[in-house]
Amino acid sequence: MTQGHGRSMRELIESGERSFSFEFFPPKDEAGEEQLWRAITELEPYGPTFVSVTYGAGGSSRDTTVRITGRIASETSLTPVGHLTCVGHTREELEVILDSYAAAGVVHVLALRGDPQGGPRAEWTSTEGGFTYASELVELASPRFSVAVAAAPNGHPASSSLEQDAIALKAKQDAGAEFAITDMVFRASDYIGLVERSAAAGVTIPILPGIMPILNLGQVNRMAELSGHPLPDEVVERISRVSDDPVAVRAEGIAMAAELCEALLAGGAPGLHFYTLNRSKATREIFAALKITV
Ligand code: FAD
Repeated sequence: MTQGHGRSMRELIESGERSFSFEFFPPKDEAGEEQLWRAITELEPYGPTFVSVTYGAGGSSRDTTVRITGRIASETSLTPVGHLTCVGHTREELEVILDSYAAAGVVHVLALRGDPQGGPRAEWTSTEGGFTYASELVELASPRFSVAVAAAPNGHPASSSLEQDAIALKAKQDAGAEFAITDMVFRASDYIGLVERSAAAGVTIPILPGIMPILNLGQVNRMAELSGHPLPDEVVERISRVSDDPVAVRAEGIAMAAELCEALLAGGAPGLHFYTLNRSKATREIFAALKITV
């Protein structure tokens, strides 16, 4: 799938110019919707390669994802990537959602398996007539859509080995995935390890590291634990040194994220994917620290 200027997303990411992208989630109410559009408007001038919108567990948030990505496609200069998961969907339902993405002008999707209700560590049960692995959704969506997939820097919590994940990523590439985005990375060495294992399994698509600045240690630690891996000790220790001063925690979190971004790019990352939590300020502060201007 090519962009307006004739290059595929994979080519754009690999072109040597660094790729920057921002991730949002579907807002729950009107105030959340206003906050999201403020963040989008404030980040649009940075000219990201793409922006993505997550796909939730419930019905209305799922419709919101398609609506928001469609609005981004029609009302902004940005390229939206709509997330889609296999959770609770039959193949036919997934085809209908892909049709609604296409009708809304969305040509890029992030194809995910999604998590069972009990979280990433709970046992996965497929919906009757649905899929077991993200690779099957990649196959369904590709090549009609330009398809991205997920990768776990320290292994998926349900995987028996890191090699199993590398083989799963290769299967997603073989099914048509153009590039991958990782879960939150907190150490450049974790990302580099993932890239090396993936390359050894034959993965050649670009892998973008996911960046989540730590502005609130408790919140990010809970998110990290949920995705199967607690924050590295050295990260917790550095933030803990200033933990009684919220302003200092924020400053340290931004500084650490900027250092991580530099180390990732120096280590060969083809770009950076920012988890924005629908706010622009932290990303803009990291960009300022990296001397990236509008
Ligand atoms: P898969 O690639 O299918 O992998 C799941 C497990 O199956 C892994 O253990 C893998 O090793 C194994 N596996 C895969 N293929 C095979 C195979 N052929 N044979 C044997 N084992 C196999 N969740 C949401 O609900 N909504 C979102 O919007 C969302 N966005 C995300 C965005 C990013 C960038 C990331 C990194 C994650 C996101 N997630 C989201 C979370 C994601 O849904 C979970 O991590 C989920 O548990 C795994 O999804 P996956 O697509 O990686 O699954």
